[in-house]
Amino acid sequence: MFHDPLRILAFGAHPDDCDILLGGTAILWSRLGHQVTFVSTTNGDTGHYSMGGGPLARRRQAEAQRSAQIAGIAYRVLDIHNGQLLPTLENRWRLVEIIREVDPDLVVTHRPNDYHPDHRYTGQLVQDAAYTVTIPNVAALTPHLMTNPVFASFSDRFQRPYPFQADVIIDIDSVMPTKLDMLHCHTSQFYEWLPYNQGRLDQVPEDEHARKAWVNELWGARSRDLADTHRDALVARYGEEHARAVRNAEAIEISEYGAQPSAQELATLFPF
Ligand SMILES: [Zn+2]
Repeated sequence: MFHDPLRILAFGAHPDDCDILLGGTAILWSRLGHQVTFVSTTNGDTGHYSMGGGPLARRRQAEAQRSAQIAGIAYRVLDIHNGQLLPTLENRWRLVEIIREVDPDLVVTHRPNDYHPDHRYTGQLVQDAAYTVTIPNVAALTPHLMTNPVFASFSDRFQRPYPFQADVIIDIDSVMPTKLDMLHCHTSQFYEWLPYNQGRLDQVPEDEHARKAWVNELWGARSRDLADTHRDALVARYGEEHARAVRNAEAIEISEYGAQPSAQELATLFPF
């Protein structure tokens, strides 16, 4: 059913979302020789306090490429303005074409109840592209897929309409330092825009080592929270002893709109 090596495609709204939410798992796939593509559906050209437009978009594109190099994956940034992504037919076709070109076994994106409109509409667009990728007369000049890939969602902390379900949870402890190296590439986000937006720009350390520790403290907390919140899922996957020792995790929720993988197929998709 799946390609060998596997082909994984993730759509984040901004040029750091995939890194935060699936970076560790991407490194694990990549190290086993599987092909991972991250797509940012917007170019990140507004989220900053002192720069914007073309220079910021180009800077974020370069940061994403450095992060991709560290992970051993491909990274594509769509030239759509930050904050202006809409769930239009044109954008649905654009995503249909990308999914068909990559021909992935698994597609991961935001849930459509995420907090940011770009996240929500990315989730909506991918949801709308699921199944559509198999219809020959939609975007007819890009060969359609014969079967629907597996679709899934990144983890999030939103409770309504229902909390995220960790259908697959992954121990990323072995690659956590490399994941932090990926986040460290996004200087304009983790050391400029996000601390500014959170009112702690004055706390950002200067030297490299302290910066990485700072990113781990603030953003690594997500993967530690996830491991703690879904400890039962870790136990089910890894057994009691291993699961209790896991500090950092990533997880995905399988969508009802794509292919429905068996337990055996999930083991093939997540071979670690
Ligand atoms: Zn985002």
